[in-house]
Amino acid sequence: MNNKCIFCKIVNKEIPTKILHEDDLVIAFADIKPIAPLHILIIPKEHIEKITDLNENQEMLAGRMIMVAKKLAEEHGTAEGGYKLLFRVGRDGGQEVPHIHLHLLGGGPLKEIIGPR
Ligand code: AMP
Ligand code: ZN
Repeated sequence: MNNKCIFCKIVNKEIPTKILHEDDLVIAFADIKPIAPLHILIIPKEHIEKITDLNENQEMLAGRMIMVAKKLAEEHGTAEGGYKLLFRVGRDGGQEVPHIHLHLLGGGPLKEIIGPR
């Protein structure tokens, strides 16, 4: 738990948020500023700043995030059409919230604009 972290506050239910999934390792909730018709964030309950900081003992956690994203995609009817899973990592990766989060983006065809800034 990091007292200044907005996602830790969501994990601790200090910020009222509709939780779409919760288990022992992760929770999921809708992104506040969606960039796709379906935009859900899957985050570890533990405060870990970014993917770079994961260690080998946390392999389970990384796997769980992906499996939960897959389950939520199915539940929200976007599994057949497809979707994107995105981790932004650090400054150059454009990560704004320093608590690991996996973006599930779906609900229709999505464009792709990735390149040097
Ligand atoms: P990133 O740029 O990958 O760090 O993404 C951070 C994401 O967190 C953005 O898509 C924000 O819209 C989202 N976000 C920030 N604060 C909240 C919040 N309180 N509840 C839900 N999503 C949030
Ligand atoms: Zn945190």
